[in-house]
Amino acid sequence: MSRFFSHRLDRLVPYTPGEQPIDRTYIKLNTNESPFPPSPGVTEAAAREAGKLRLYSDPTVRDLTRAMSEVFEIPGDHIILTNGSDEVLNFAFMAFADEEHPLVFPTITYGFYPVFAELNRIPYEEIPLKADFSVDPADYQNLGGKTVVIANPNAPTGLCLTLEEVESIVASNPDGVVIIDEAYVDFGGESAISLVDKYDNLLVTGTFSKSRSLAGARLGFGFACPSLIADLHTVRYSTNPYNINRMTAAAGVAALAENDYFMQNCRTVMDTRVYTTDALRALGFSVLDSKANFVFAASDRIEGGELYRTLKERGILVRHFDKDGISNYNRITIGTREQMEALIATVTDILQEKGASL
Ligand SMILES: *Cc1c(COP(=O)(O)O)cnc(C)c1O
Repeated sequence: MSRFFSHRLDRLVPYTPGEQPIDRTYIKLNTNESPFPPSPGVTEAAAREAGKLRLYSDPTVRDLTRAMSEVFEIPGDHIILTNGSDEVLNFAFMAFADEEHPLVFPTITYGFYPVFAELNRIPYEEIPLKADFSVDPADYQNLGGKTVVIANPNAPTGLCLTLEEVESIVASNPDGVVIIDEAYVDFGGESAISLVDKYDNLLVTGTFSKSRSLAGARLGFGFACPSLIADLHTVRYSTNPYNINRMTAAAGVAALAENDYFMQNCRTVMDTRVYTTDALRALGFSVLDSKANFVFAASDRIEGGELYRTLKERGILVRHFDKDGISNYNRITIGTREQMEALIATVTDILQEKGASL
C-alpha cells in the first residue's frame, strides 16, 4: 500500500477471484463458467461490431434492452444492464444502502457482498445459515428498513429458497430494498421476476456469465420497478454511462435470439449435475442438493484443502474457501460429462491412494 492510499479504505479486503491459470491446461471447475461455447451467432455478432469500436457504445443500450424486454416479458423501464452483475450489485449498494439502511446477508454467500459494503463504507450484518446450510427465511422478516441481499440459489451451497419464501421476505420489509441475486437461477431455481410489478422494494439481478456462456463479455442486469431502476441509472450515469461495450451489447442481442440453445445447455448441465452428485455420494461425499451449475461437497476421508491441492496437482481446478464452517468443502463447477467423469476417476484414485476404505 502506498502512503497515498486513502484511510477511508483502510479496512478494504479485495475480492479474490477464482484462478484463471495460464501455466498449464486444467480441467477448469473453479469459477462456474459454462463448459459450452456461446452460439456461433454470438461470436459473429461480436466480431461484426468490432469494426465499430472507434465509436462509443450506446449509453441507453437500446437494442439489447428491447431484446431483454421480449425474452423476459418485462418493460424496458424495468431493466438496467451492467458490466457483469457485480456492477448492478455495487450500484444497488451505493443507491439503496447506508448507515440508516445497513446491509443484511448470510454469513456464507457470495464473497463480493462484504467487499462492496466495505468499499462503499456501508455497515453490514451477517446472519448464520441453518445447520443444513440453508437460508432461514424467518431470519429475514421485518428488518425495518435494512437492505437485504440474498443469492438464490445461494453460492457456494447451491441451495434455494422457494418463490413463496422470497415473497415473504420482500413483503415483510416494505421500508428496505430486497436484492435477490439470481446468477444461477437458470439451473433449476424459481425466479422472482414475477414479483417485480407487485413490490416497489424488490430488485432481481442476473447475469449472462453462467447460463449464457458469456462470463468474459461482462454482461449483467437488474429488474425492478421503474423508480428503483431510475435510481440505479442515476448511479450508472455518475459512474460509467458506457458500461456496456459495443461487442458485449451485440453478443447479448445475439444470445437472446438463440435463447433455446442456452436453455438446452442448462438442461445438459442439470443432467450432469445429477451424475456428479450421485457419483460423489457413492464415494462417500456429502453433497448438498444444488440448483446451480456447481455442487458443494465434502468427504470425511480427505480434508477439503488437501483435496483441492491434490486435484490441482493432477490438472483439475476446483474452488476451496478457507472459511469457518465450510473449509472441508469444495465447490465444483459442473463441466461436460467427460470432464466430470475425469473428476470422479481422479477423486477415486486420490481416495484409494490415501488408503481410504472404499
Ligand atoms: C458469478 C456471480 C455473480 C456475478 O457474476 P458476473 O460475472 O459479474 O455477472 C453474482 N452473484 C453470484 C452469486 C455469482 O456467483
